Amino acid sequence: MARHGRDWRCRFSVTSVFIGTMADAVLVDLRRMLSCSNSEHNLEMPLIKFANMNQRDAFAIEVRDFGKSYGEFSAVSNLGFAVRTGEIVGLVGANGAGKTSTLRAITGILRPTTGTIRIDGFDIEKEPVAAKRQFAYIPDTIHPYDLLTVTEHLHFVALAYHVENAETKYAALLDELELADKKDKLASSLSRGMLQKLSLACAFLREPRAIILDEPLTGLDPRGIRNIKESIRRRATAGTAFLLSSHLLVLVEALCDQVLILHRGQKVAFGSLEEIRNLATVHTNATLEDVFFAITEKANVLPPGANVP
Ligand code: ATP
Repeated sequence: MARHGRDWRCRFSVTSVFIGTMADAVLVDLRRMLSCSNSEHNLEMPLIKFANMNQRDAFAIEVRDFGKSYGEFSAVSNLGFAVRTGEIVGLVGANGAGKTSTLRAITGILRPTTGTIRIDGFDIEKEPVAAKRQFAYIPDTIHPYDLLTVTEHLHFVALAYHVENAETKYAALLDELELADKKDKLASSLSRGMLQKLSLACAFLREPRAIILDEPLTGLDPRGIRNIKESIRRRATAGTAFLLSSHLLVLVEALCDQVLILHRGQKVAFGSLEEIRNLATVHTNATLEDVFFAITEKANVLPPGANVP
């Protein structure tokens, strides 16, 4: 802590929005922190994270009857699904299917036109601060603070989210994400893949109930891809829920317990690979790619809004 003193906070005070894991709830806390005196003790803010423990249930993310329209155009409609504790759900669909609209509504960036979204039991519209404390979101485009180092990013997240004993976790996290030799490098000097790893480190540091990822493996090298897959799987086993959107069907097939296929804004399949194979009536060894094309081609011949039989 001592090493990151007044200078560190001054640098943040001229910076606006962080990486994408920074929800507005946290910015409120951050402003309060920045207005505190220089005593480190003043950074100890009361935790409200677990104030509503009785609302927690098996659903880390619950989406009911979600719809999003842009003017007259309906981008997503009647979408319902849940991500349970420790589950990895893959969201797939063609360009324009409605994946990003869905992720942005779940994270509170977009207001739903219809429906309700709960994170760990908290309604993202009615209880946005509590809901946003429960997840980390990594969008497909990363926006780091160029003038902060890798370690300073972790420190920033630790302060903003009140992560206990955060500094004892930095070394292991940076090792895990192959960033140990970059720990003192400015974000502006990192490659696309390294920034992706940094944003994952920031998300993992918080140990949130759910992690939402838009194309998590973009820009990663083969070793990085294998490591991140293992990191995600390990955390899911420990109870973290993951919702990830990707066009890489091989990745989704290898990593996800459940797959949600969106097509023209409609849910056309949701279940384990085995379950959606049955829905697609394809052979028992069919890959997710086979299933995806079978189901979406079936849906193509139906009028918009009709259920896939
Ligand atoms: P991709 O795989 O290309 O990222 P996606 O599945 O994430 O696509 P969305 O970005 O959610 O799809 O877009 C769904 C539909 O909503 C598209 O037809 C898109 O053109 C439309 N759309 C998205 N954002 C807006 C907006 N701000 N205004 C109007 N239409 C929008």
